[in-house]
Amino acid sequence: MSCAFDLAHYDELLAAARRGGYRFTFFDHEPGPGDLLLRHDVDLSLEAALEMADFEAERDVVATYFLMTESEFYNLDSPSAESVLRELRERGHRIGLHAVWPKVEFDERFDAVFSWHNPDRQFMQQSVDSFVNVMHSPFGDWYRSDSNQYWRQGCPHEELSARAFERLQLLIHPEIWVYPGETMRETMLSMLEAERERRLDQLVKDRIDLS
Ligand SMILES: [Zn+2]
Ligand SMILES: [Zn+2]
Repeated sequence: MSCAFDLAHYDELLAAARRGGYRFTFFDHEPGPGDLLLRHDVDLSLEAALEMADFEAERDVVATYFLMTESEFYNLDSPSAESVLRELRERGHRIGLHAVWPKVEFDERFDAVFSWHNPDRQFMQQSVDSFVNVMHSPFGDWYRSDSNQYWRQGCPHEELSARAFERLQLLIHPEIWVYPGETMRETMLSMLEAERERRLDQLVKDRIDLS
């Protein structure tokens, strides 16, 4: 099995979790044995998030999507983001806040759970009021992340199917699986290509003359 960062292998990861008997759960209760907390930090692209959400919904998989209000790359207040928020909920997923330290401002769009964007070690586990920090114990005790298309402890598909984790929080960044590319750079260039097409459509809808 090739551990590529693409939807084919994401499908295999989800299947491995099922084989291991894991349940897809949320951050709304203390995790127990067999719980798989599927977490998506959406750093760059709401379109990638929605594509992954559809992919999961077709497989009866639910996840928590952490969205930013201060992203350099998307605007959560835009009309298109509003429909993404609605569609994520309709597919059974939950929505947390992907916060930029030290600001944690919740509103009605979010459940009471947050993750820090690019956290430093000293505030990684810092709590805020009564909100759940995903890296706080017990949620962060068993944890794997795909950051920059790199698994620090190896791709977890074998351990999932062998049920080697008592429970697991699995952090998956949608952009790096949804867009094609052999390297992080290639994947990001694919994302920018898709973004360019989307922006051109938006310009036409905004009555900009591109003739
Ligand atoms: Zn793998
Ligand atoms: Zn992030």
